Amino acid sequence: MNQALQKRLIEAVATSMIDHAEELTILDQAIGDGDHGLNMRRGFTEVMADVDGLATRPLPEALRAIGTKLVMKVGGASGPLYGTLFLTLGKELPDAPTQADAARALGIAVAAVMARGKSEPGQKTMLDVLAPTQAELAAGGDDLLVRLKTRPAASAEATVPMRAIRGRASFLGERSIGHMDPGARSSSLMIEAVCDVLGG
Ligand code: ADP
Ligand code: MG
Repeated sequence: MNQALQKRLIEAVATSMIDHAEELTILDQAIGDGDHGLNMRRGFTEVMADVDGLATRPLPEALRAIGTKLVMKVGGASGPLYGTLFLTLGKELPDAPTQADAARALGIAVAAVMARGKSEPGQKTMLDVLAPTQAELAAGGDDLLVRLKTRPAASAEATVPMRAIRGRASFLGERSIGHMDPGARSSSLMIEAVCDVLGG
């Protein structure tokens, strides 16, 4: 992981969250309180403000710093959950991760989000994108980057017919059916942004 690549990865993820704030807000207006896009934009604007500093730190340290910023700035349910994801990745990844390292660290990070959210895949949350992505990463094989890039959008789409069991959307019960989960969409956008940079 060189500094230039690390900077491009951080910029790509942060820019995607900032650029898609309106879309995420519209999704959250349908089944939540309409703040997910604003929450993510606030958090990742803070990340962008420090992108040069973050790029010069070793990868694990940069991820932990991003996690701390997200916990402090994003707010809502998603702030502590995305904070936990990045903090755990920062704890578990080595400076220069292999695919096996990434699969292992993401597995532990997904488990940490599940513990923090008292949630699991199938409940119409960000976990419905994060868990299948981890499974894809662990499976490896041919065209891994292509599969990693395309699977998250399909996973987010698969939350549409789900009924929300966790988070604010669960208050709607049956009426949460028929809408994409905003956190699933933000997770899919982040993973796509990472794959775009790694794919060159
Ligand atoms: P809030 O729901 O507090 O307004 P956001 O709108 O920023 O927070 O984030 C909502 C997203 O957070 C949901 O779309 C869902 O993906 C995710 N989420 C909420 N609660 C949980 C949970 N317990 N476990 C996993 N993800 C959750
Ligand atoms: Mg919300």
